Amino acid sequence: MLPQDLHIHTTFSKTDSAILPQQTVEMVAFAKHAKIVGISDHFEMFMPDEFEIYQQEVRKHNLLLGTEVNGHASVNLALQHDFDYYIYHCWGDEPADYSALKALKEKGKPVIVAHPYAVNTDLNKIDEGSLVEINNRYIWRYNWQKELAPYINKFRWIFSSDAHQPNWLNQTIARRVGEELGVNEHIIF
Ligand SMILES: [Zn+2]
Ligand SMILES: [Zn+2]
Repeated sequence: MLPQDLHIHTTFSKTDSAILPQQTVEMVAFAKHAKIVGISDHFEMFMPDEFEIYQQEVRKHNLLLGTEVNGHASVNLALQHDFDYYIYHCWGDEPADYSALKALKEKGKPVIVAHPYAVNTDLNKIDEGSLVEINNRYIWRYNWQKELAPYINKFRWIFSSDAHQPNWLNQTIARRVGEELGVNEHIIF
């Protein structure tokens, strides 16, 4: 069993085309592929109307309640709800995303900087000690030696699946990359 997986999507990420109807919260709870499991559906796809339903469904299955926030535009609304943690897109060419990251962190809940290589995050602008992700869905598409190796000692690293389908509930390639880079995994909960 994996130690931790906090980046997982379900049918609450309604307009995400990679989601299959079978990828329910119940299915993820059934798979129980990690000791610590959190659901992190896309904030913009179920909020604000369905927060209560989402919360109830995730809590009913004893999973952690997270959400994935696509940059600064959603941060104020995200701060008004009780999530256990946040997955955050810090877009490389958007200065407002870096200041919104600081605001989100001030809430006192863990904030994981999602797949920096996929949204061109400038890791020089991210504070030392931040939680940064090695993401099984994206990492293999990038030159991780060049893009991540210089920052290995700067951040605390989180492995995640970014699963959108039951058969994506693994971190195989992310963990191999972590091993090659000599990353120490950080367990949040
Ligand atoms: Zn993402
Ligand atoms: Zn995601």
